[in-house]
Amino acid sequence: MSSKAVLIVCDGMGDRPVRGKTPLQIAETQNMDSISKEGINGLMDPISPGIVPGSDTSHLSLLGYDPHQYYRGRGPFEALGAGMELERGDVAFRANFATVDDNMNIIDRRAGRFGHEELAKVLNMNIEGVDILVRHTVEHRCALVFRGKGLSDKISDVDPHEEGKIRKCIPLDNSEEAKRTAEIMNKYIGMCHDILRDHPLNEGRKLPANIILPRGAGMYKDVERRFRFRSACIAGAALYKGVAKFVGMDVLDVEGTTGRFDTNLISKKRAALKALEKYDFVFIHVKGTDNVSHDGDLEKKIEMISRIDRELMDGFVDLDSYVIITADHSTPVSIRRHSSDPVPIAIKGEGVRIDDVSSFDELSAVRGGLGRIRGIDLMPIIADFMGYYEMYGV
Ligand code: ZN
Ligand code: ZN
Repeated sequence: MSSKAVLIVCDGMGDRPVRGKTPLQIAETQNMDSISKEGINGLMDPISPGIVPGSDTSHLSLLGYDPHQYYRGRGPFEALGAGMELERGDVAFRANFATVDDNMNIIDRRAGRFGHEELAKVLNMNIEGVDILVRHTVEHRCALVFRGKGLSDKISDVDPHEEGKIRKCIPLDNSEEAKRTAEIMNKYIGMCHDILRDHPLNEGRKLPANIILPRGAGMYKDVERRFRFRSACIAGAALYKGVAKFVGMDVLDVEGTTGRFDTNLISKKRAALKALEKYDFVFIHVKGTDNVSHDGDLEKKIEMISRIDRELMDGFVDLDSYVIITADHSTPVSIRRHSSDPVPIAIKGEGVRIDDVSSFDELSAVRGGLGRIRGIDLMPIIADFMGYYEMYGV
């Protein structure tokens, strides 16, 4: 007998008390509380205690893949999330369209948030036997892939991460591969500028998209699937779709998901409930909680959590499947960055040892029956509940 499960991850939802209470304690969360009350609770260190997780490494861990083993930079996830197919040995990057002046000084790292499919298309080319592929995603963002023999991901970012002089790409180790990849990159960036500078779509623009700034190089290596059940991902932002695809999940396109505060939670809920007819495991990602946390906006964070509870969680309270709610890390509004504070987790479903925690928040979770687990422990725990266990020994 096996059953199904829904994992809901609210990005950066964990927090520290502000004037005595965390946003989760202040927000209206009757549905999350109900899952807490009818489930087993605990705290989770997405990577391990004291380690400040990135969203990419944390999601790898939460989905059952040790980031220390599988993480090779953000680029491959962005490319997969943008819908590109990757091959073993590809070096992938995330990149911005940006605006530079004639001296290659960056005027705007985001080209006024402008980008276009056509601008990406004209940047596809082959340099010294290396195929270079570009895909536009949203606004000024795109993904970039180098495909060919003898490449390396040990190269520096072209993006200086601030306005100023564009950075020359340099090899980060002494290998021939890194040297070659950096050289091709520098040649490529120059050619991009030549092509984009005179492109009709840039005509008359105050901030033309006349260069791309790659960063986060990572070499793609396919992974062996760890879990046998059919799983699907519902997310707005490319990174999460990419991580899901990387670990072998189907990525569902859901209308109205934006990866921002204004995302359509109701359509996510409907899509997830529908997906459960076909899939055994559905992962829902909500990004808005992290965005407002980086802005240090307590009110908005409380509002976003209340909305998630009202518009998304209500669909799963009475679901006859396992329901798991958690976050990929804490992003305290007081410090506006990710922190290593563990996040609360609640699991509801057949056979879980219901504890006496009845509120879903960082402080109540301490008393829960799960104790304190690591992100990498989560999927084996869920898989065992679902009936897909593998015994260690006989
Ligand atoms: Zn995150
Ligand atoms: Zn963040």
